[in-house]
Amino acid sequence: MADQNKFKKVIAHAKEYGYIFQSSEIYDGLSAVYDYGQNGVELKKNIREFWWQAMVQMNENIVGLDAAIFMHPTTWKASGHVDAFNDPLIDNKDSKKRYRADVLIEDYVAKLEAKIEKEVKKAAKRFGDAFDKAEFLATNGRVKQYKEKGDAILKRMGKSLENEDLADVKALIEELEIACPLSGSRNWTDVKQFNLMFGTKLGASAESAMDLYLRPETAQGIFVNFLNVQKSGRMKIPFGIAQTGKAFRNEIVARQFIFRMREFEQMEMQFFVRPGEELKWYESWKEKRLKWHLALGLGADNYRFHDHDKLAHYANAAADIEFKFPFGFKELEGIHSRTNFDLSSHQKFSGKKVQYFDHELGESYVPYVVETSIGLDRMFLAVFSNALQDETLEDGSTRTVLKLPAVLAPVKAAVLPLVKKDGLPEVARKIIADLKFDFTMAYDEKDAIGRRYRRQDANGTPFCITVDHDTLNDNTVTIRHRDTMQQDRVKITDLKALISEKVALRYWLEKC
Ligand code: ATP
Repeated sequence: MADQNKFKKVIAHAKEYGYIFQSSEIYDGLSAVYDYGQNGVELKKNIREFWWQAMVQMNENIVGLDAAIFMHPTTWKASGHVDAFNDPLIDNKDSKKRYRADVLIEDYVAKLEAKIEKEVKKAAKRFGDAFDKAEFLATNGRVKQYKEKGDAILKRMGKSLENEDLADVKALIEELEIACPLSGSRNWTDVKQFNLMFGTKLGASAESAMDLYLRPETAQGIFVNFLNVQKSGRMKIPFGIAQTGKAFRNEIVARQFIFRMREFEQMEMQFFVRPGEELKWYESWKEKRLKWHLALGLGADNYRFHDHDKLAHYANAAADIEFKFPFGFKELEGIHSRTNFDLSSHQKFSGKKVQYFDHELGESYVPYVVETSIGLDRMFLAVFSNALQDETLEDGSTRTVLKLPAVLAPVKAAVLPLVKKDGLPEVARKIIADLKFDFTMAYDEKDAIGRRYRRQDANGTPFCITVDHDTLNDNTVTIRHRDTMQQDRVKITDLKALISEKVALRYWLEKC
């Protein structure tokens, strides 16, 4: 599948199978806001659960939190969001389209990367088995030129953004001769900063109403509760607080389905450490988080780290875990060494001490923080787009199959009576009545069995259990595996163990 087509297919499939709908579609939709349907809500819940268990249940020194979306407005002064949570925007005067200036430049660099990939492919074909990719990347003149050019562009952009030199960001766009993808023109406005926070009001009367923001990240709920959790949980540094929940950003450009939404969900963990130890923990969390991703089996080649040139105002080191989405490698998760910026700032703005007494050192300090922050919706898109495949089978026919990791699949097993009579539906219902205590189950008796298998394949159901006439005599059924399409004859009483083996969280958590 060509990548553009693949992305279109992902969006269409997500709608057709009840995973994702455009918000308020009946009123022509709301831009960059989406609803999760009957299957989407299950997949999303399972991803969240897999993250939560890996972070909270598997780590003695990480606990959870569920802070409110509304927070005292001073929170956002202290965090720097009121003054600095901006994106640089630029308008094309001919198409009247608005863009993020940094994204235009990053897309230019992505094109250079695509050229490198093309060269690599060509060379791999030419040299065959003797091809050494690392050596090729290090020695090929043209590839080195592309790489150096890309690095230099990103470095300059990073510096200019850090220094708020928006004129240079525009100059860079002009020097690179970047054109509006829509109009093809290079008729740009100046670059301006745009604050991404949504404002709202709390209170009944206009005079007494208080201006609030919808939180743009969940992290601040953790920081302002640092002492509450540390004291009530008698937590000792190093320890972490994990939270999942909605965040809101008035994104300038939001055209990539659930990759960039205006209302989305984050899964964040703030890990509090001794000053001076933060970079050690930063490296360790980079590694642990990548391992969590790899455990799902989406393919190691689909991930890469990207170390930031431009650091946020609070960070002394930052990296993204990027994933190969249908539209290329993009950020999936951020790992940030946030220093003691947030806690110090809340201490200053609240006038209350936010410190930890370290008994071993015999001193008090404001802890340093390493954050892992992943978008649940982006993770959903990574899993879903990776899983969707068109396969040509041995007999030449094709099938669409959603190869979701079994632990995440919305429905774990479907029970299908071969025919709608002779007592087979009753046996099927009985199997479901038993297994539904352990797994999400589905029942389907409509259409020929082959079509029902295809329907479950497209829905991502890892197992189909078929009840036939032999079942009535020997209490055995056929269990069909989604990915291999292999069919085994098994006892009804063995079903629970067989399914459990593949869908139990334990099996997947052990790989993290
Ligand atoms: P980007 O550069 O893509 O705008 P970011 O660096 O601003 O992302 P962070 O503030 O680090 O993102 O947020 C942490 C994570 O939250 C991101 O890695 C991403 O998975 C997710 N995320 C951020 N913004 C959005 C959004 N608008 N829609 C969906 N997920 C988002």
